[in-house]
Amino acid sequence: MAFRNFKMIGYVIYGRGCFNQLGDIIQPHRKTGAPMVFLVDHFFEGKPLINRLPISGNDKLVFVDVTHEPKTSYVDALANQLKEEFGTISGVIGIGGGSAMDLAKAVSLMMNNPGSAADYQGWDLVKNPGVYKVGIPTLSGTGAEVSRTTVLTGPTKKLGMNSDYTPFDQIVLDPALTADAPANQRFYTGMDCYIHCIESLTGTFLNEFSKSYGEKALQLCREVYVNKTGWDEESDDQLMMASYAGGMSIAYSQVGVAHAISYGLSYLLGTKHGIGNCIVFDKLEEFYPEGVKEFKWMVEKNQIDIPQHICAGLSDADFDKMMDVSLGLKPLWENALGKDWEKIMTRPKLRALYELL
Ligand code: NAD
Ligand code: ZN
Repeated sequence: MAFRNFKMIGYVIYGRGCFNQLGDIIQPHRKTGAPMVFLVDHFFEGKPLINRLPISGNDKLVFVDVTHEPKTSYVDALANQLKEEFGTISGVIGIGGGSAMDLAKAVSLMMNNPGSAADYQGWDLVKNPGVYKVGIPTLSGTGAEVSRTTVLTGPTKKLGMNSDYTPFDQIVLDPALTADAPANQRFYTGMDCYIHCIESLTGTFLNEFSKSYGEKALQLCREVYVNKTGWDEESDDQLMMASYAGGMSIAYSQVGVAHAISYGLSYLLGTKHGIGNCIVFDKLEEFYPEGVKEFKWMVEKNQIDIPQHICAGLSDADFDKMMDVSLGLKPLWENALGKDWEKIMTRPKLRALYELL
Protein backbone atom coordinates (compact mmCIF):
# COMPACT_ATOMS: atom_id res chain seq x y z
CA MET A 1 0.00 0.00 0.00
CA ALA A 2 1.27 3.42 -0.90
CA PHE A 3 0.49 6.17 1.57
CA ARG A 4 -0.52 9.54 0.27
CA ASN A 5 2.03 12.26 0.94
CA PHE A 6 -0.23 15.24 0.80
CA LYS A 7 0.60 18.86 0.23
CA MET A 8 -0.99 21.31 2.63
CA ILE A 9 -1.76 24.98 2.43
CA GLY A 10 1.18 27.26 3.28
CA TYR A 11 0.11 29.78 5.90
CA VAL A 12 -3.05 30.18 7.97
CA ILE A 13 -4.23 33.22 9.86
CA TYR A 14 -7.37 32.88 11.96
CA GLY A 15 -9.48 35.27 13.98
CA ARG A 16 -12.22 37.85 13.93
CA GLY A 17 -10.79 40.91 12.18
CA CYS A 18 -7.63 39.20 10.88
CA PHE A 19 -8.64 40.29 7.37
CA ASN A 20 -7.15 43.67 8.31
CA GLN A 21 -3.66 42.10 8.17
CA LEU A 22 -4.04 41.10 4.52
CA GLY A 23 -1.98 44.06 3.27
CA ASP A 24 0.99 43.15 5.47
CA ILE A 25 0.69 39.47 4.56
CA ILE A 26 0.81 39.97 0.81
CA GLN A 27 3.42 42.77 0.83
CA PRO A 28 6.50 40.47 0.65
CA HIS A 29 4.95 38.69 -2.34
CA ARG A 30 4.64 41.80 -4.47
CA LYS A 31 6.93 41.84 -7.48
CA THR A 32 7.87 45.08 -9.18
CA GLY A 33 5.36 46.05 -11.85
CA ALA A 34 3.30 42.90 -11.40
CA PRO A 35 -0.06 43.53 -9.74
CA MET A 36 -1.95 41.61 -7.13
CA VAL A 37 -5.30 40.55 -8.56
CA PHE A 38 -8.32 40.44 -6.26
CA LEU A 39 -10.99 38.04 -7.48
CA VAL A 40 -13.96 38.92 -5.32
CA ASP A 41 -17.39 37.26 -5.19
CA HIS A 42 -19.84 39.61 -6.93
CA PHE A 43 -21.99 39.64 -3.79
CA PHE A 44 -19.49 42.16 -2.34
CA GLU A 45 -19.78 44.71 -5.13
CA GLY A 46 -20.61 48.02 -3.44
CA LYS A 47 -20.25 46.51 0.05
CA PRO A 48 -17.97 47.98 2.77
CA LEU A 49 -15.52 45.07 2.47
CA ILE A 50 -14.29 46.53 -0.83
CA ASN A 51 -12.98 49.64 0.92
CA ARG A 52 -10.90 47.40 3.17
CA LEU A 53 -9.02 45.69 0.31
CA PRO A 54 -5.27 46.51 0.42
CA ILE A 55 -5.19 47.70 -3.19
CA SER A 56 -2.10 49.57 -4.33
CA GLY A 57 -0.19 50.45 -7.53
CA ASN A 58 -1.55 48.69 -10.59
CA ASP A 59 -3.48 46.06 -8.57
CA LYS A 60 -6.63 44.86 -10.23
CA LEU A 61 -10.03 44.16 -8.69
CA VAL A 62 -12.32 41.77 -10.56
CA PHE A 63 -15.80 40.90 -9.33
CA VAL A 64 -16.38 37.28 -10.28
CA ASP A 65 -19.78 36.05 -11.32
CA VAL A 66 -20.63 33.01 -9.22
CA THR A 67 -24.24 32.67 -10.33
CA HIS A 68 -23.14 29.36 -11.81
CA GLU A 69 -20.41 27.08 -10.51
CA PRO A 70 -17.03 27.85 -12.09
CA LYS A 71 -16.50 26.71 -15.66
CA THR A 72 -13.17 26.02 -17.35
CA SER A 73 -14.11 28.58 -20.01
CA TYR A 74 -14.52 31.27 -17.35
CA VAL A 75 -11.14 30.41 -15.81
CA ASP A 76 -9.50 30.58 -19.26
CA ALA A 77 -11.12 33.94 -20.00
CA LEU A 78 -9.96 35.43 -16.68
CA ALA A 79 -6.41 34.08 -17.01
CA ASN A 80 -6.05 35.11 -20.66
CA GLN A 81 -7.29 38.60 -19.90
CA LEU A 82 -4.71 38.96 -17.12
CA LYS A 83 -1.92 37.61 -19.34
CA GLU A 84 -2.82 40.07 -22.08
CA GLU A 85 -3.12 43.01 -19.75
CA PHE A 86 -0.09 42.42 -17.51
CA GLY A 87 2.01 39.54 -18.80
CA THR A 88 2.78 38.37 -15.29
CA ILE A 89 1.09 39.08 -11.99
CA SER A 90 2.31 38.85 -8.40
CA GLY A 91 -0.59 36.83 -7.12
CA VAL A 92 -4.30 36.11 -6.93
CA ILE A 93 -6.45 36.75 -3.87
CA GLY A 94 -9.77 34.87 -3.97
CA ILE A 95 -12.46 36.25 -1.67
CA GLY A 96 -15.86 34.59 -1.45
CA GLY A 97 -17.53 31.21 -1.13
CA GLY A 98 -16.22 27.95 -2.58
CA SER A 99 -16.86 29.21 -6.12
CA ALA A 100 -14.72 32.36 -5.85
CA MET A 101 -11.97 30.47 -4.03
CA ASP A 102 -11.93 27.75 -6.68
CA LEU A 103 -11.74 30.36 -9.43
CA ALA A 104 -8.76 31.96 -7.70
CA LYS A 105 -6.92 28.64 -7.41
CA ALA A 106 -7.58 27.79 -11.04
CA VAL A 107 -6.62 31.24 -12.37
CA SER A 108 -3.38 31.10 -10.36
CA LEU A 109 -2.51 27.76 -11.97
CA MET A 110 -3.49 28.88 -15.48
CA MET A 111 -1.20 31.92 -15.26
CA ASN A 112 1.75 29.50 -15.45
CA ASN A 113 0.38 26.57 -17.44
CA PRO A 114 -0.39 26.57 -21.17
CA GLY A 115 -3.67 25.62 -22.82
CA SER A 116 -7.08 25.43 -21.18
CA ALA A 117 -8.05 24.60 -17.61
CA ALA A 118 -10.00 21.72 -19.16
CA ASP A 119 -6.66 20.07 -20.05
CA TYR A 120 -5.89 19.73 -16.36
CA GLN A 121 -9.17 18.34 -15.03
CA GLY A 122 -8.10 15.15 -13.34
CA TRP A 123 -5.38 14.02 -10.99
CA ASP A 124 -1.84 15.42 -11.04
CA LEU A 125 -1.96 16.79 -14.57
CA VAL A 126 -0.82 20.32 -13.65
CA LYS A 127 2.83 20.76 -14.70
CA ASN A 128 3.94 24.07 -13.21
CA PRO A 129 3.23 25.81 -9.91
CA GLY A 130 0.77 28.69 -10.20
CA VAL A 131 1.33 32.25 -9.06
CA TYR A 132 1.07 33.10 -5.33
CA LYS A 133 -2.51 32.52 -4.22
CA VAL A 134 -4.53 33.48 -1.18
CA GLY A 135 -7.97 32.12 -0.22
CA ILE A 136 -10.36 34.08 1.97
CA PRO A 137 -13.69 32.34 2.66
CA THR A 138 -16.85 34.38 3.17
CA LEU A 139 -19.04 31.27 3.53
CA SER A 140 -18.13 28.26 5.65
CA GLY A 141 -18.51 24.63 4.72
CA THR A 142 -16.95 23.57 1.44
CA GLY A 143 -13.42 23.10 2.75
CA ALA A 144 -12.21 24.61 -0.55
CA GLU A 145 -9.86 26.75 1.57
CA VAL A 146 -7.79 23.68 2.48
CA SER A 147 -8.31 21.26 -0.42
CA ARG A 148 -5.92 20.27 -3.21
CA THR A 149 -8.61 20.66 -5.84
CA THR A 150 -10.57 23.30 -7.66
CA VAL A 151 -13.86 21.95 -8.94
CA LEU A 152 -14.61 23.00 -12.50
CA THR A 153 -17.27 22.22 -15.06
CA GLY A 154 -15.63 21.68 -18.43
CA PRO A 155 -16.83 20.82 -21.93
CA THR A 156 -16.96 17.10 -21.18
CA LYS A 157 -16.84 16.70 -17.42
CA LYS A 158 -17.21 18.17 -13.99
CA LEU A 159 -13.92 17.42 -12.32
CA GLY A 160 -11.32 19.26 -10.30
CA MET A 161 -7.75 20.21 -11.07
CA ASN A 162 -6.36 17.98 -8.34
CA SER A 163 -2.67 18.58 -7.78
CA ASP A 164 0.04 19.45 -5.29
CA TYR A 165 0.14 22.89 -6.88
CA THR A 166 -3.55 23.56 -6.19
CA PRO A 167 -3.63 24.34 -2.42
CA PHE A 168 -3.46 28.00 -1.42
CA ASP A 169 -0.16 29.51 -0.26
CA GLN A 170 -2.08 31.45 2.36
CA ILE A 171 -5.58 31.38 3.78
CA VAL A 172 -7.22 34.09 5.85
CA LEU A 173 -9.92 32.75 8.14
CA ASP A 174 -11.91 35.68 9.48
CA PRO A 175 -15.34 34.51 10.67
CA ALA A 176 -16.68 38.07 10.63
CA LEU A 177 -16.68 37.90 6.82
CA THR A 178 -19.45 35.27 6.90
CA ALA A 179 -21.81 37.39 8.98
CA ASP A 180 -24.09 38.55 6.17
CA ALA A 181 -24.78 35.20 4.52
CA PRO A 182 -28.51 34.45 4.21
CA ALA A 183 -29.81 31.61 6.41
CA ASN A 184 -30.61 29.22 3.55
CA GLN A 185 -27.21 29.66 1.87
CA ARG A 186 -25.43 29.35 5.18
CA PHE A 187 -27.30 26.13 5.84
CA TYR A 188 -26.65 24.58 2.41
CA THR A 189 -22.93 25.34 2.54
CA GLY A 190 -22.73 24.36 6.22
CA MET A 191 -24.36 21.04 5.39
CA ASP A 192 -21.67 20.44 2.77
CA CYS A 193 -19.33 20.24 5.76
CA TYR A 194 -21.72 18.04 7.75
CA ILE A 195 -21.98 15.68 4.78
CA HIS A 196 -18.18 15.64 4.34
CA CYS A 197 -17.95 14.47 7.95
CA ILE A 198 -20.58 11.73 7.64
CA GLU A 199 -19.15 10.45 4.36
CA SER A 200 -15.60 10.49 5.69
CA LEU A 201 -16.41 8.95 9.07
CA THR A 202 -18.51 6.11 7.65
CA GLY A 203 -16.24 5.43 4.68
CA THR A 204 -13.93 2.46 4.13
CA PHE A 205 -10.95 4.81 3.65
CA LEU A 206 -11.23 6.10 7.21
CA ASN A 207 -8.08 6.32 9.30
CA GLU A 208 -7.18 8.03 12.56
CA PHE A 209 -5.98 11.18 10.77
CA SER A 210 -9.30 11.72 9.01
CA LYS A 211 -11.28 10.59 12.01
CA SER A 212 -9.65 13.13 14.32
CA TYR A 213 -10.59 16.03 12.07
CA GLY A 214 -13.96 14.57 11.02
CA GLU A 215 -15.15 14.06 14.56
CA LYS A 216 -14.19 17.60 15.56
CA ALA A 217 -15.89 19.08 12.51
CA LEU A 218 -19.02 17.05 13.14
CA GLN A 219 -19.12 18.20 16.76
CA LEU A 220 -18.87 21.84 15.65
CA CYS A 221 -21.65 21.38 13.06
CA ARG A 222 -23.84 19.91 15.77
CA GLU A 223 -23.09 22.82 18.12
CA VAL A 224 -24.28 25.21 15.45
CA TYR A 225 -27.23 23.41 13.90
CA VAL A 226 -28.48 21.07 16.64
CA ASN A 227 -27.67 22.50 20.06
CA LYS A 228 -28.19 26.21 19.51
CA THR A 229 -31.29 28.24 18.94
CA GLY A 230 -30.55 31.18 16.71
CA TRP A 231 -27.29 32.34 15.21
CA ASP A 232 -24.52 34.24 16.97
CA GLU A 233 -20.92 35.24 16.38
CA GLU A 234 -19.73 32.03 17.97
CA SER A 235 -21.67 30.09 15.33
CA ASP A 236 -19.69 31.82 12.58
CA ASP A 237 -16.43 31.03 14.42
CA GLN A 238 -17.43 27.40 14.90
CA LEU A 239 -18.62 26.80 11.36
CA MET A 240 -15.44 28.31 9.91
CA MET A 241 -13.33 25.85 11.91
CA ALA A 242 -15.74 23.01 11.08
CA SER A 243 -15.20 23.74 7.39
CA TYR A 244 -11.42 23.69 7.85
CA ALA A 245 -11.44 20.46 9.86
CA GLY A 246 -13.97 18.80 7.55
CA GLY A 247 -11.73 19.65 4.61
CA MET A 248 -8.73 18.18 6.43
CA SER A 249 -10.73 15.04 7.13
CA ILE A 250 -11.64 14.36 3.50
CA ALA A 251 -8.13 15.32 2.37
CA TYR A 252 -6.93 12.03 3.80
CA SER A 253 -10.05 9.96 3.17
CA GLN A 254 -12.76 10.68 0.59
CA VAL A 255 -16.37 11.76 0.25
CA GLY A 256 -19.15 9.30 -0.61
CA VAL A 257 -22.59 8.59 -2.04
CA ALA A 258 -24.15 12.04 -1.65
CA HIS A 259 -21.27 13.73 -3.45
CA ALA A 260 -21.14 11.10 -6.19
CA ILE A 261 -24.84 11.54 -6.96
CA SER A 262 -24.85 15.30 -6.54
CA TYR A 263 -22.03 15.75 -9.08
CA GLY A 264 -24.30 14.17 -11.70
CA LEU A 265 -27.12 16.54 -10.76
CA SER A 266 -24.95 19.58 -11.00
CA TYR A 267 -23.46 18.49 -14.32
CA LEU A 268 -26.87 18.08 -15.95
CA LEU A 269 -29.05 20.59 -14.12
CA GLY A 270 -26.48 23.06 -12.81
CA THR A 271 -27.62 22.40 -9.24
CA LYS A 272 -25.14 24.07 -6.93
CA HIS A 273 -22.95 21.93 -4.71
CA GLY A 274 -24.36 22.77 -1.27
CA ILE A 275 -28.04 22.58 -2.12
CA GLY A 276 -27.46 19.60 -4.43
CA ASN A 277 -25.82 17.67 -1.61
CA CYS A 278 -28.77 18.48 0.65
CA ILE A 279 -31.29 17.33 -1.99
CA VAL A 280 -29.43 14.03 -2.36
CA PHE A 281 -28.51 13.42 1.28
CA ASP A 282 -32.19 13.84 2.25
CA LYS A 283 -32.91 10.57 0.38
CA LEU A 284 -29.96 8.46 1.52
CA GLU A 285 -31.36 6.76 4.66
CA GLU A 286 -30.28 3.44 3.21
CA PHE A 287 -26.61 4.41 3.25
CA TYR A 288 -26.34 6.88 6.11
CA PRO A 289 -29.30 6.13 8.44
CA GLU A 290 -28.17 8.12 11.47
CA GLY A 291 -26.75 11.05 9.51
CA VAL A 292 -29.90 11.42 7.42
CA LYS A 293 -32.11 11.30 10.49
CA GLU A 294 -30.10 14.06 12.13
CA PHE A 295 -30.01 16.01 8.86
CA LYS A 296 -33.81 15.96 8.60
CA TRP A 297 -34.02 17.17 12.14
CA MET A 298 -31.64 20.06 11.42
CA VAL A 299 -33.65 20.98 8.32
CA GLU A 300 -36.80 21.17 10.39
CA LYS A 301 -35.24 22.98 13.33
CA ASN A 302 -33.63 25.60 11.11
CA GLN A 303 -36.73 25.91 8.91
CA ILE A 304 -34.91 25.30 5.64
CA ASP A 305 -36.50 24.35 2.34
CA ILE A 306 -35.04 21.35 0.55
CA PRO A 307 -36.35 21.27 -3.06
CA GLN A 308 -38.18 18.08 -4.05
CA HIS A 309 -38.91 16.30 -7.34
CA ILE A 310 -36.18 18.06 -9.26
CA CYS A 311 -35.69 15.00 -11.50
CA ALA A 312 -39.36 14.67 -12.43
CA GLY A 313 -39.80 14.79 -16.20
CA LEU A 314 -36.18 14.04 -17.13
CA SER A 315 -35.56 11.80 -20.13
CA ASP A 316 -33.71 8.48 -20.18
CA ALA A 317 -30.81 10.26 -21.87
CA ASP A 318 -30.73 12.77 -19.01
CA PHE A 319 -30.62 10.03 -16.40
CA ASP A 320 -27.89 8.28 -18.38
CA LYS A 321 -25.79 11.43 -18.48
CA MET A 322 -26.08 11.92 -14.71
CA MET A 323 -25.25 8.28 -14.08
CA ASP A 324 -22.19 8.44 -16.35
CA VAL A 325 -20.83 11.41 -14.43
CA SER A 326 -21.63 9.82 -11.10
CA LEU A 327 -20.24 6.35 -11.80
CA GLY A 328 -17.03 7.91 -13.11
CA LEU A 329 -16.22 9.02 -9.56
CA LYS A 330 -14.81 5.64 -8.60
CA PRO A 331 -12.87 6.62 -5.46
CA LEU A 332 -16.03 8.12 -3.94
CA TRP A 333 -18.00 4.92 -4.50
CA GLU A 334 -15.18 2.75 -3.30
CA ASN A 335 -14.87 4.79 -0.13
CA ALA A 336 -18.60 4.55 0.52
CA LEU A 337 -19.31 0.96 -0.45
CA GLY A 338 -15.99 -0.88 -0.52
CA LYS A 339 -13.97 -2.49 -3.28
CA ASP A 340 -16.96 -4.35 -4.69
CA TRP A 341 -19.03 -1.22 -5.04
CA GLU A 342 -19.89 -1.91 -8.68
CA LYS A 343 -21.89 -4.95 -7.61
CA ILE A 344 -23.90 -2.81 -5.19
CA MET A 345 -24.31 0.42 -7.15
CA THR A 346 -25.60 -1.00 -10.42
CA ARG A 347 -27.09 1.34 -13.03
CA PRO A 348 -30.69 0.32 -12.19
CA LYS A 349 -29.99 0.95 -8.50
CA LEU A 350 -28.49 4.36 -9.22
CA ARG A 351 -31.34 5.26 -11.58
CA ALA A 352 -33.82 4.45 -8.81
CA LEU A 353 -31.92 6.78 -6.46
CA TYR A 354 -31.97 9.62 -9.02
CA GLU A 355 -35.70 9.09 -9.47
CA LEU A 356 -36.22 9.73 -5.75
CA LEU A 357 -34.83 13.25 -6.08
P1 NAD B 1 -20.78 29.76 -3.62
O1 NAD B 1 -19.37 30.18 -3.54
O2 NAD B 1 -21.25 29.15 -4.89
O3 NAD B 1 -21.70 31.00 -3.23
C1 NAD B 1 -23.10 30.85 -3.07
C2 NAD B 1 -23.78 32.20 -3.03
O4 NAD B 1 -23.46 32.89 -1.82
C3 NAD B 1 -23.33 33.11 -4.14
O5 NAD B 1 -24.47 33.77 -4.63
C4 NAD B 1 -22.38 34.10 -3.47
O6 NAD B 1 -22.37 35.34 -4.14
C5 NAD B 1 -23.00 34.21 -2.11
N1 NAD B 1 -22.11 34.62 -1.00
C6 NAD B 1 -20.83 34.27 -0.75
N2 NAD B 1 -20.41 34.80 0.42
C7 NAD B 1 -21.45 35.49 0.93
C8 NAD B 1 -21.64 36.27 2.11
N3 NAD B 1 -20.69 36.39 3.07
N4 NAD B 1 -22.85 36.83 2.30
C9 NAD B 1 -23.84 36.66 1.38
N5 NAD B 1 -23.73 35.97 0.25
C10 NAD B 1 -22.54 35.38 0.03
O7 NAD B 1 -21.15 28.73 -2.43
P2 NAD B 1 -20.31 27.65 -1.64
O8 NAD B 1 -21.31 26.68 -1.15
O9 NAD B 1 -19.40 28.28 -0.66
O10 NAD B 1 -19.39 27.00 -2.74
C11 NAD B 1 -19.85 26.09 -3.69
C12 NAD B 1 -18.76 25.91 -4.70
O11 NAD B 1 -17.61 25.36 -4.08
C13 NAD B 1 -19.11 25.00 -5.84
O12 NAD B 1 -18.65 25.57 -7.04
C14 NAD B 1 -18.36 23.73 -5.54
O13 NAD B 1 -18.01 23.00 -6.69
C15 NAD B 1 -17.14 24.26 -4.84
N6 NAD B 1 -16.52 23.32 -3.93
C16 NAD B 1 -15.18 23.19 -3.98
C17 NAD B 1 -14.51 22.32 -3.15
C18 NAD B 1 -13.03 22.20 -3.24
O14 NAD B 1 -12.45 21.40 -2.51
N7 NAD B 1 -12.36 22.93 -4.07
C19 NAD B 1 -15.22 21.58 -2.21
C20 NAD B 1 -16.60 21.73 -2.16
C21 NAD B 1 -17.24 22.62 -3.01
ZN1 ZN C 1 -18.68 18.94 -0.70
